[in-house]
Amino acid sequence: MVTFFYALIAAQASVMAAVQNVEEGIEGFDEAVINIEKLVDSNTPAAQLQLKKYGDHFNDLALKQKITYLDLLTDIYITQGQFHLAKQLTTEGLSLTLNLSSPSLLISELLYNRGFANESIGEIELATKDYESGLELAKSLHDNVLTARGLVNLGAIYYLTGRYENSLIVLNDAYNIAKQTTDEKLKGSVNSELGILYAHLDRNKQAMVYYQQSYQHYKNANKTVLSLNSLVNMGLNYLSEKQYDDAIQAFETVINEARNIDEFAINQIMYSTYSGLSRGNLKKKEANPEASYQYLLLSKQYLENIEQYDTERRYYIDEAFVLFELERFDEALNSIAKVENIFALHAPLGHLRKQGHINVIDLKSKIYFQQGHYQKAYELQNHRLSLTRALRDERHTQSIAEVRLALEAKEADLQKKVLKNKQTLQEITLLEAEEKQEQQKLYLLYIAVVALVFAWLLVKLVQGQHKLYKASSLDALTGIANRNEVMRKGKKLFYQAKMKKNNFSVLMIDIDYFKKINEQFGHSEGDIVLKKVVELGKEFMRKTDVFGRFGGEEFIAFLPHTSSEQAKMIAERFRRSVETNDWGNIKASQAPFNISISIGVANSVDFLNEEGFDLAMLINKADQLLFLAKAQGRNQVCT
Ligand code: GH3
Ligand code: MG
Ligand code: MG
Repeated sequence: MVTFFYALIAAQASVMAAVQNVEEGIEGFDEAVINIEKLVDSNTPAAQLQLKKYGDHFNDLALKQKITYLDLLTDIYITQGQFHLAKQLTTEGLSLTLNLSSPSLLISELLYNRGFANESIGEIELATKDYESGLELAKSLHDNVLTARGLVNLGAIYYLTGRYENSLIVLNDAYNIAKQTTDEKLKGSVNSELGILYAHLDRNKQAMVYYQQSYQHYKNANKTVLSLNSLVNMGLNYLSEKQYDDAIQAFETVINEARNIDEFAINQIMYSTYSGLSRGNLKKKEANPEASYQYLLLSKQYLENIEQYDTERRYYIDEAFVLFELERFDEALNSIAKVENIFALHAPLGHLRKQGHINVIDLKSKIYFQQGHYQKAYELQNHRLSLTRALRDERHTQSIAEVRLALEAKEADLQKKVLKNKQTLQEITLLEAEEKQEQQKLYLLYIAVVALVFAWLLVKLVQGQHKLYKASSLDALTGIANRNEVMRKGKKLFYQAKMKKNNFSVLMIDIDYFKKINEQFGHSEGDIVLKKVVELGKEFMRKTDVFGRFGGEEFIAFLPHTSSEQAKMIAERFRRSVETNDWGNIKASQAPFNISISIGVANSVDFLNEEGFDLAMLINKADQLLFLAKAQGRNQVCT
């Protein structure tokens, strides 16, 4: 791939070679570069001024100097958030590289810069191509730091587009390479991207650790702007953890530390900081929508200087939410229209952005409701529901759980290897002993030992496999079948029932107002409720039924040989047992509402004459009935 890439360049270069003389270039340029590179991060106007001196004599620069000049200038534009200019200049720089007589790391640098510019303006595919070409070249030139930088860039693209496992793999590689270097800036960026990835995987605590490490590495590298960026990420992380006071404190630290940095270099950071303060003030315990609005206005000032499409999208979402709180509904609708325009140009990728899209639809529906447009509000809610379901299914198939499982499986593999090493070690000792002592007795003894070791290994292996089976089929919290397992068993039962034309029922069960329980009493209290509901549910299941966790606070039960009436009765008993359960010993019992469940019941009889009848149709029906139960006020069974 690289050879091909380079052959192309070389072919074109030979055409140019006739015009290109060997140049001396301008003396002192190379020393100046080091100086300017340092300035880029702290004072872009000064960097630009120094660089301009050479720009005025651009034609006198040697070829490599010209390319370096353009590379530095794009560094400056990228720091300032001027991505279109950066893209244009890198393209110019890359066309100059066609005249180089041998491949140079400068090409990778330029490709990474152009990739970043592309990524920022929403050209994800072009960005990916640039990153990949740059990475290939860096690898072929055996440059560790640039290779790791390429992996980091790709890692970011992967999580942005929801490919979390790929992201995990390349970022891990980058992490391992970075560990062997002394490049603090590189270490900072690897940790920063790992932080963002873990935030995407809903592991905010782990993400925080990476952000902190990244902050420290950037500080060691004297990269103030980048270290502030890590601080901003910590603030955003606190926001998602609903620790609003901590978030506000982090953002205030950013404002303090940013005092001595030129404003051009921190547009993006100040934007995120003020928008973070706006969100913190909107959501904290004693919410302050007015202050939130003021911070929003401050953030808007920075928006003009940022070309990043995603920042604009985030801004108008924030604006819509704040205006809604201020009951300025028409203006909020205006902001939403702008968000929709951006969504139309750049379809939301990755589940966080898709969730953002869904939240906006929800908000729009609430606004219509406030304005008395009930029909529109209702239609939007329906739309929101179908998108939510699609996202839930998608998240489940490519899912975060799988990435986590992959992580855990890797750890298990590692342990197996350790076992295997132990075994080989035993074999070696055995051979040595045999040679040295040649004593039959000892030999036999060792055989016995080895046999024991093997037996032990075998037991361990079986135990390990059993554990692995349990881990991959049972839900860790409640101990019942997880989604994969319950679906696997459900399908089997369903096809048996279908073949023999037996009656078959499905229950879809969802805990009511569960989010509120979590919010008011904490996640661990929520977990207790989940476990108790499962315990109660198990009481009503027969040996032949399967009952499992469908996801979150939703459960599913497959009941073979069960008519619609019987299934309804079972569901009703289950519902009543939750309603009447004595929750007295847990905090959640103090909730201003009863702890209850809603259930949708579907039966195969309704589908007997339908073409292509399958389990998905049955589940879908149960799901719809569940939504009906919710809509009719919850704590009920719908058939
Ligand atoms: P509804 O009555 O409409 O069902 O409202 P709800 O709040 O129950 O439903 P929603 O789907 O909005 O919220 C489900 C919540 O369940 C969100 C999520 O944080 C929480 N959740 C999901 N899995 C777990 C878990 O394992 N433990 C705890 N404590 N909470 C969980
Ligand atoms: Mg619920
Ligand atoms: Mg739910």
